[in-house]
Amino acid sequence: MATPLNADRLVAALKAEGCTVHEVPGWRTHNRNHKGAWGPVHGVQIHHTVTGPGTDVVGLIYNGHSALPGPLATGCITKDGVVHLTGNGRANHAGGGDGRVLQAVIDESYGDRPPATQKHDGSPGAVDGNARFYGWECENKGDGKDPWPAVQYDAMVRATAAICRAHGWGPKSGIGHLEWSDWKVDPRGIDMKDFRADVAERLAHEPDWNPGKGEDPMAGMTKQDIYDAVWKTDQVAAPDSAPDRKTNASWQPQSYLKDIGNRVRSLTVTVAAQSAAIHALAEKVGSGVDTNTVVAAVERAIADAVIKVDIDVTQNQES
Ligand SMILES: [Zn+2]
Repeated sequence: MATPLNADRLVAALKAEGCTVHEVPGWRTHNRNHKGAWGPVHGVQIHHTVTGPGTDVVGLIYNGHSALPGPLATGCITKDGVVHLTGNGRANHAGGGDGRVLQAVIDESYGDRPPATQKHDGSPGAVDGNARFYGWECENKGDGKDPWPAVQYDAMVRATAAICRAHGWGPKSGIGHLEWSDWKVDPRGIDMKDFRADVAERLAHEPDWNPGKGEDPMAGMTKQDIYDAVWKTDQVAAPDSAPDRKTNASWQPQSYLKDIGNRVRSLTVTVAAQSAAIHALAEKVGSGVDTNTVVAAVERAIADAVIKVDIDVTQNQES
């Protein structure tokens, strides 16, 4: 038994859950309460709007159409993730459905899915869903191809969790229209089992939980961003006269990286040249000298020098 949230409480719950809320003018007194009961409420139903670009979808959900007067839902969640509130109370969204499903939602007793519905609007014994469910109409063509943008899906999860949290319900109070009415397919492209798992994860956290935000400092960074940050810098390579931060505080890590790159390239060329020169020299000297021994000894000495340079640079970076 749950009394419906009033307008202020609904707005507060949505905002606390991190939703971007747009109150359509007039929504607070816009409903179908004069045509039937509103409450007790037991759950939330998710729908797709069957609209494409160019449709005033929020206006459609507020006003309804010739065959079905508005409001057509509690709110319309557009592809940009905004929750447009269109109805405060009974709305024409769920229609008739299966009482067994309603009982499973009330009890939150089912497993992954409520019992398969065997009713629809107008069928004998169908239960009035508009009295019992809040409704989110979510902008989508419903053709099975139109994608659900992440920002919209996130808003749908948040908006559903907000109502569940406000009433003390669990995620099983959120169902798809197709789970209520056996002639519906919405929300097409969303598996309600997964959707409920996402609502459950939200409900396990505080309402202001923002997964990803503040947790991954590299989030949203592209390979190009990293390349630019490392290599496209105004800082010149560190000159030998001021090789570390103690003597030039304005240098950035990328200065040293550039410097290391230049030095390694220079060293590689130098080592190759020296090895060749020593090899030629040893051959000239001829008898009594093992050419390979001389070359190996020199290369080892040069390798030690390279390692020493590397260590010095590392120390500079940390100074
Ligand atoms: Zn629907």
